Amino acid sequence: MDLAGGTVLFSPHLAWRNEPLRENLQRLLRRPVLLTNDADAAAWAEWRFGAGQGEDRLVCITLGTGIGGAMVMDGRVERGRFGVAGEFGHQIIMPGGHRCECGNRGCWEQYASGNALGREARLLARSNSPMAQDLLAAVDGHPEAITGAIVTELALAGDPASRELIEEVGEWLGLGLANLAAALDPGLFVIGGGLCSAGDLLVEPARKAFARNLTGRGFRPAAGIELAALGPNAGLIGAADLSRVSSRVRN
Ligand SMILES: [Zn+2]
Repeated sequence: MDLAGGTVLFSPHLAWRNEPLRENLQRLLRRPVLLTNDADAAAWAEWRFGAGQGEDRLVCITLGTGIGGAMVMDGRVERGRFGVAGEFGHQIIMPGGHRCECGNRGCWEQYASGNALGREARLLARSNSPMAQDLLAAVDGHPEAITGAIVTELALAGDPASRELIEEVGEWLGLGLANLAAALDPGLFVIGGGLCSAGDLLVEPARKAFARNLTGRGFRPAAGIELAALGPNAGLIGAADLSRVSSRVRN
């Protein structure tokens, strides 16, 4: 989104290129419209009412199809100089790695998202490993039907292979968070999005990988990593609240 909050410049997952979204919506709705992206809105909600309350340097990560990112710094949504800050999911964490919808290879969201979890589970299921028997049974023997949500469900029910797959995603998550801590030095990371229903199965390995990869570890305070408190409604709550206090969006 541009800094003025009117135009969606580019979206890897939607067919919007320089889309004058606010103007279009205002014409249809005949109301003033505040445009904000879902990750910014969710971060705002967690800062105002959720897990990030009281934290002046907050980074929020939303794990779903991809990875959404946002920052609330000193009581404002920080959107960068051109309005496009927070695209953490596209930091390249594995040069030459999996192809990403953004056109690059090896983006973080290809390793630490719901989509990544589904892809790895499908690969495991196709390997004919006996480890994958619960996964295959859950989809009547059709590996292509496995999604991140199914893996999460099985992991919570105790399937060891699904737990391993989530642990792996958690490790990638922690590694990326360590990179972000080196650049941004927040006090707290709040982790939200659909994948968070895995709870500690995801966050514990992330905390360990974060501690193992943090620059200056042992000689500096480390940011906390907590699960979001507002669940799938965070974006809605944040958008509603931001429209009341829209001057707090830095633009
Ligand atoms: Zn990417």
